[in-house]
Amino acid sequence: MSGISLQGVSKRYPGGILAVKGVDLDIESGEFVTLVGPSGCGKTTTLRTIAGFETPTDGTVRIDGKDVTDMPPYERDTGMVFQDFALFPHMTIHENIAYGMEASGEYTREEIDARVAEMLDLVELPGVGDRTPDQLSGGQQQRIALARALAPRPKALLLDEPLASLDKQLREQMQVELRRIQQEIGITTVFVTHNQEEALTMSDRLAVMNDGRFEQVGPPEVVYDEPDTRFVADFLGTANIFDGTVTAIENGYATVDCGDVTVRSQSPGALETGSEVSVIVRPERVRFEATSADGGTRTATERSNVFQGDITFKRHLGSSVEFRLETSNGRELVVVRRSGMDEVTLGDSVSVTIDPDDCRIVEE
Ligand code: ATP
Repeated sequence: MSGISLQGVSKRYPGGILAVKGVDLDIESGEFVTLVGPSGCGKTTTLRTIAGFETPTDGTVRIDGKDVTDMPPYERDTGMVFQDFALFPHMTIHENIAYGMEASGEYTREEIDARVAEMLDLVELPGVGDRTPDQLSGGQQQRIALARALAPRPKALLLDEPLASLDKQLREQMQVELRRIQQEIGITTVFVTHNQEEALTMSDRLAVMNDGRFEQVGPPEVVYDEPDTRFVADFLGTANIFDGTVTAIENGYATVDCGDVTVRSQSPGALETGSEVSVIVRPERVRFEATSADGGTRTATERSNVFQGDITFKRHLGSSVEFRLETSNGRELVVVRRSGMDEVTLGDSVSVTIDPDDCRIVEE
C-alpha cells in the first residue's frame, strides 16, 4: 500500500478558469481522506488530477513516492469509482469485475476467477457473477463498481461522489460498508463529496476546499471543533457566528464588540486589539435554562456571556433536540442538547449562557 502526495498542484482549464490553486496534501498509506466543499470549489478536478484524467498546469503528483504527474491513468495503479457506477451493461458481473485484470494481460484465468470470487465475498454479494448489471439494485451495482475498482489491487482508491445517487437510507448503509471494506484491505482512499455529514463521519482526515484551495486539512473532530476559518465553521455542521472587532485582550480572553452584543471568548495567542474577527460557537456548546417567573436568571455568572431569548423552533433529532432561539436583540441562535433534559417548548423564555472557553475566534 502507498501514499499520495500533491505538491503545489494547480489546474487551469482552457478558457482561463483556475480551478485548483496550488494545493499541497500528503496522504499516508492506508488513510481515508475526503475532499469536501461546495459545488465548483475544485474537488473533482483535484481527484481527476490524482487519477491522471487531468494534467496539472503546475505542481507534482506522487503515488507511492513515484512522480506520476505525466503518466496516463492506466499506468498509475489507481482504482476509480464514479457517481453513476459506469458498469458495462452488456457484460456479466463477473466480466465487469474481471475487466481490469483481463486488460492488463498479467493474470491467468484461474487467478482472475479466484480474485473475482474474493471481491464478490468482500462486497458481500457472492453468487451474482452470472447476472448482468440491470439485474441488480442501485446499491448492489455500486458495490460491484467498488469490487471492479479493487480487483486489480490498485495502490489507491479514488471515489468521486460514489454514493450521491443512492437514496438516504441506502446511502447511510453504503457509508458504513465502504468504510468497512476500506479498513479491511487498508487501501489509501481519496473520497470526494459535497455532503459535509458524510465527510465528517467517514474520514480519517478532511480537506475542506473553497475556491480552488484547501481552507483546512485535519481529522473530523479537529476541523469541527477548531475550525481555522469562518468558511470552515459555516460549511461543516451548524455554527453560531458573531462577527465583530476585538476591543480588549486580557488574561487569554478577548472582548469582541459585535455591534448589538459584546462577546467574551478565549483568545488565540497572536490576536491583536482592533482585529476583525468571528467568534464561533457550536450548537452543542450553548446552554440555556427557562427564565424564572420574576424574570431573573439562575445561571448568569460573571465570566459568562448571557443572553435572554425565546424559543422559536424545536425538533427532535433522535438522541438530541435542536432548538432555535431568538435573543432579545433579534439574533437567532441554534442550540443542540441531549433529549430528556428539562422540557422547554416553543414560546418559552430562556436565559442563554455561552462559556468563553467554548468560543473559538477566527480572524477575518
Ligand atoms: P461539484 O461538487 O459541483 O462537482 P467540484 O468541487 O468537483 O464541483 P470541479 O468540477 O473540480 O468542482 O470544478 C471546478 C471549477 O472548474 C468550476 O468552476 C468548473 O466550472 C470548472 N471546470 C470543471 N471542469 C472543467 C472543464 N473541463 N473545462 C473548463 N472548466 C471546468
